[in-house]
Amino acid sequence: MEMTHKKDLDWSNIGFGYRQTDWRYVANYRNGAWDNGVMTTDPSVTLNECAGIFQYCQEVFEGLKAYETKDGHIVTFRPDQNAERMMNSATGLEMPPFPKERFLEALDQVVKLNAAWVPPYGSGATLYVRPYMFASSPVIGVKPAEEYQFRILCTPVGPYFKGGVKPLTICVSDFDRAAPHGTGHIKAGLNYAMSLHAYVDAHSRGYDENMFLDAATRTCVEETGGANFFFVTEAGTIVIPKSGSILPSITRRSMKVVAQEYLNIPVEERPVKLAELEQFVECGLCGTAAVISPVGKVVDHGREICFKNCQNAMGPVTEKLYRTLTGMQLGEIEAPEGWIRRIV
Ligand SMILES: *Cc1c(COP(=O)(O)O)cnc(C)c1O
Repeated sequence: MEMTHKKDLDWSNIGFGYRQTDWRYVANYRNGAWDNGVMTTDPSVTLNECAGIFQYCQEVFEGLKAYETKDGHIVTFRPDQNAERMMNSATGLEMPPFPKERFLEALDQVVKLNAAWVPPYGSGATLYVRPYMFASSPVIGVKPAEEYQFRILCTPVGPYFKGGVKPLTICVSDFDRAAPHGTGHIKAGLNYAMSLHAYVDAHSRGYDENMFLDAATRTCVEETGGANFFFVTEAGTIVIPKSGSILPSITRRSMKVVAQEYLNIPVEERPVKLAELEQFVECGLCGTAAVISPVGKVVDHGREICFKNCQNAMGPVTEKLYRTLTGMQLGEIEAPEGWIRRIV
């Protein structure tokens, strides 16, 4: 194997931000078909002033990571799931799906050509990969655009939450993230635009994140702006909130398999009432960016709910999930068939 000379970065302290890397992939949809697509070094996008993305926010995206494994390979984790989810997201916003096989090939190319940006094994950092797609042709009357652009960029990142494994404090939001029968289950920038005010508001009051509730009754737990919740009961069962407006997290779906098939921990997926949170002993967030992060406390307008096994560090169940899942991603533990796609 040819050795890639890594970029000269302080890998253990890079933070979670955008850093321009060398290569990205671009394909365009015109006259009813996707073109062949190219790799380019140009990070800029030039669009018509009236492009659909600017006017009516027609955009969907994905987020996944490339990892350097213990034995020096570069891999991605279940990218087929990202490809499929992005096709569903596109369909949901009346955009032409980018084919799964082409998504996977483009992803391989982006990671391979940016191999020098993949953080070294053991650094705690990873290469975050962002596939995204937007309406590129002019639209002024309300309707889907005719032309689209699909891109994949990547950027090396450290942990999403500062302070390492210190449990997070989360507040119950007075705002809603997603409507019933709306776009909450679609990975679209528009869901994030409407969560930003809640996010800034929570931060200004000293909270790490929001807990959004179901918009119809405001009695059930949904998710944060960008990660799903899970809880652990006193008896050791993992409980995952179920709702049609929660984004179907691949981390959460993988965690369920890891819990049931590798750790022998029972998992229940059901609506979770805000009123029952006191009964849980651990709470955590899961997502590509959040990985698996412990939550120590949820604050509901002055009512403080503390998860007793997640006070100063990860609770024992959260930690087992974290170690097993990240172990699979880093090639330390064998993953289920088909979960790891080796690129280098
Ligand atoms: C992407 C995302 C998640 C996490 O999904 P993963 O597939 O695990 O990365 C959770 N919630 C929202 C709103 C998201 O956009």
